[in-house]
Amino acid sequence: MLVDYHTHHYRCGHAEGQLDAYVEAAITAGLDEIGLSDHSPIYHLGPDPQPRPRTAMSQHELPAYVAEMEAVRERFAGRIPVRLGVESDYVLGWDEHYRALWRQFPLDYVIGSVHWLGGWSIFDPNLPPGRTPDDIYAEYLHTTQAAARSGAYNIIGHLDCLKTSGHIPDLSITPLLEETVRVLVESNVVVELNTSGWRKSIADCYPRAELLACCHHYGVPVTLSSDAHAPQHVAGGYAAAVELLRAVGYREIAVFAQRERRMVPLG
Ligand SMILES: [Zn+2]
Ligand SMILES: [Zn+2]
Repeated sequence: MLVDYHTHHYRCGHAEGQLDAYVEAAITAGLDEIGLSDHSPIYHLGPDPQPRPRTAMSQHELPAYVAEMEAVRERFAGRIPVRLGVESDYVLGWDEHYRALWRQFPLDYVIGSVHWLGGWSIFDPNLPPGRTPDDIYAEYLHTTQAAARSGAYNIIGHLDCLKTSGHIPDLSITPLLEETVRVLVESNVVVELNTSGWRKSIADCYPRAELLACCHHYGVPVTLSSDAHAPQHVAGGYAAAVELLRAVGYREIAVFAQRERRMVPLG
């Protein structure tokens, strides 16, 4: 089986296309399932329901997003299974907020992604004042561990995304990185092989091959995603992704329904 569990659409303000267009693209690409997972609203930056336009949907949009996903799932019933998801931020200390929030909606899965270290976006090319690449890297990994342990998520998104703007000082597997992978196993979460990095200037998938191999070594299950921000991104890079998954030893991928995981053959 092949699936794409990480897709965005117009509501976040920086992706294009309607939900339907992503589902149509998945059918055209021959996928067995498509997951919808737009960016969760931002809650940790204060009371403003839309503190960062063009980053994520407004807090007011969340119920409408879930209702629209349900309608799309109905429309495509019998053609392709449409899984209902969200890419949720994880912010240190906000565990109960996100656990409680995602219990309120009938989702098939939740991707937990570390996009923020407090008020600092990991996509900011400038480090916060007084910080070094090494201590940002450590904070990012500790935050990723906390996301896994929070119990709010099924999938941990784009595991080494901090590299996107150049903030990983040492690309070898460090003890803290291996510790993080062991926390993923203990926390019963899945990682995604996210092909979107191949579309960006970093030209590398998330996680990079060495880290993906480390995930396989410790027994972290994997799923497959493009992090599509336009319908034509759906299933992008999948030939190389399947080859990489097989090369590091994966033979199965994880799929989700009503937040329950099932393993299916890869390919
Ligand atoms: Zn996005
Ligand atoms: Zn993300």
